[in-house]
Amino acid sequence: MKWDEFRKRGAEAAEWAADYHEGLRDRPVRAQSRPGEVLAQLPAAAPEAAEPLDDILADLDSTIMPGMTHWQHPRFFAYFPANAAPVSVLAEAYVSAMAAQCMLWQTSPAATELETRVCDWLRQSVGLPEGFAGVIQDSASTATLCAVLTMRERALDWAGNRKGLSGQPRLRIYASAEVHTSIDRAIWIAGIGEENLVRIPTNGPMRAMDSDALRDAIAADRIAGHLPAGIIACVGGTSAGATDDITAVMEVAEAEGLYSHVDAAWAGAAMICPEFQALWAGVERADSVVLNPHKWLGAQFDCTTHFLRDPTTLVKTLAIQPEYLKTHGADGIINYSEWSVPLGRRFRALKLWFLLRAHGLAELREMIRNHVAWADALCKRLEKLPQIEIVTQPFLSLFTFRLSAPEGGESDALNQQAVNEINDEGRIYLTQTRIDGALVIRFQAGAWTCTKEDVDVAYDVIRETAERLCP
Ligand SMILES: *Cc1c(COP(=O)(O)O)cnc(C)c1O
Repeated sequence: MKWDEFRKRGAEAAEWAADYHEGLRDRPVRAQSRPGEVLAQLPAAAPEAAEPLDDILADLDSTIMPGMTHWQHPRFFAYFPANAAPVSVLAEAYVSAMAAQCMLWQTSPAATELETRVCDWLRQSVGLPEGFAGVIQDSASTATLCAVLTMRERALDWAGNRKGLSGQPRLRIYASAEVHTSIDRAIWIAGIGEENLVRIPTNGPMRAMDSDALRDAIAADRIAGHLPAGIIACVGGTSAGATDDITAVMEVAEAEGLYSHVDAAWAGAAMICPEFQALWAGVERADSVVLNPHKWLGAQFDCTTHFLRDPTTLVKTLAIQPEYLKTHGADGIINYSEWSVPLGRRFRALKLWFLLRAHGLAELREMIRNHVAWADALCKRLEKLPQIEIVTQPFLSLFTFRLSAPEGGESDALNQQAVNEINDEGRIYLTQTRIDGALVIRFQAGAWTCTKEDVDVAYDVIRETAERLCP
């Protein structure tokens, strides 16, 4: 394709995008295809001869689209959202056109300096104090991996990268049982080992880490000759919104000299509303914090902001400077590739800049407040149905519930059947989780275009399903 043809095709793609989004309410939210169905329609080998773009586009509509789950659907109530505000999609089109590789300051000074600025805008908006520096990562998983690597290197006085871990004391990292699996994976990749991720019991309605148990676990590890390295706290756990008492965790981290990381990948977006900031009170004492603007906030996936109280420990952990990556003659610059695992970096700051400017914080706050209010109202309505039991009360816009199995009925099977039937039907999309071993249904409101009427549809679907399965 030549750029001249791109002019016309690009305009068509913009039409397609607008039509797609405007028509989403008429599509089933979750893909209705069976395993292997798409694969079977695709040729086994790449074509030798060039094919016309019209054929490719026809196959996009006929083969690919039926196999897509519509994450931008207004009635996407599963997992957490991955919102793509139209203006952030537009920004990505510009980024895609420039196709710059923004690993070093000099490989695109504007990308680096814009990243510094928009991260600081967001830092202020979520109430983190001055001095925290932000960087955009590809995912919360990567930010948490960076935190775990920093914990490891700091505890070993930066010997891990040089000598490896053999012959070192056992490193220990503490978190509750409610944390995301990205924490387990970071521990694996950092060579620390799952057995050294110490699970601290939780208690209370917030399912928060028991800080006395945390203190005891650290003390026991020190007596056993292990090396405590860090604590990972969570705000808004993925399963049901579990939230640690950050002040209590920070007191332990400071008293023990441990690195602290706060995973607020989903809930962090809500902190742009001052009234929710009490949910993570104490966060200003953390060493690092991660939140995903690509979830609730609307910055098209992927866009993770990672805030560091002192980035030098991270840079000391990750920076490598062979001659070919050095920038001579420019002091005091930031090379963000020294703050992340991959060298190459996409220009992610642009979409955050477009988003924050085009909507302003006021509009983003209004969206989040609406979602929280609508989820709360739905929970109260569902609670009144005789077949429904609320299992965890709303944390922001997330709660869990289950259908009460009739006498002698199998609750897990019944609830899984409800989830499957709801998603097969297609008006809404929900997912399940386990709370204290039992299968429950999650509901979260967070889609960019979700309205109160969409949440009312969720009520209708859940009520109809409950009445059908538990007559
Ligand atoms: C979504 C989520 C993650 C993982 O985020 P990625 O950006 O997909 O790596 C981690 N922790 C929590 C609490 C999350 O909600």
